[in-house]
Amino acid sequence: MPRIDAILKLFHERGHSEYGGEPVTQLEHALQCATLAEAEHASPALIAAALLHDIGHLLHQLPDDAPDHGVDDVHEELGYRYLSQQFGTGVAEPVRLHVPAKRYLCAINAEYMARLSPPSVMSLALQGGPMSADEMASFEANPFAMDAVRLRKWDDEAKVSGLPTPNAEHFAQYLRAALTHPAD
Ligand code: FE
Repeated sequence: MPRIDAILKLFHERGHSEYGGEPVTQLEHALQCATLAEAEHASPALIAAALLHDIGHLLHQLPDDAPDHGVDDVHEELGYRYLSQQFGTGVAEPVRLHVPAKRYLCAINAEYMARLSPPSVMSLALQGGPMSADEMASFEANPFAMDAVRLRKWDDEAKVSGLPTPNAEHFAQYLRAALTHPAD
């Protein structure tokens, strides 16, 4: 079962890898995403989801540039399974849905799609491209769809080289608040 100290260790040990072709590391990306969520006064669960949305990238051994080789690492599913052991749906579901949210936003908003970074365009193709009308309807029916859309927008902005943020320990308070069994 992932404990909070195990999560922080994962960030410290593996978070210095490149964030898939972007000018930030995995840890910088996670911290920027959580900082944006905190600035919008998101719930503790959603701030935790923002920090942890890409933890699946730290759980596998595929190279950072796997999408360049046509490989989708399915990190949202890996992250969802890992986080479900310790957190409720308010954390795990937005993480699972942050890739579908990108496919959703591309389907409803051409400008959104046009602003995606080149690595994000590359992975979009591997992730199934913009959603169909049927896929959009089932996405919208998920109670966590709008949380996932908010998370996605922070995710897309959290790629600024050298931006100062609070550290991972600062955000651990939200992880603690979002635990399913805090007394364990
Ligand atoms: Fe991300």
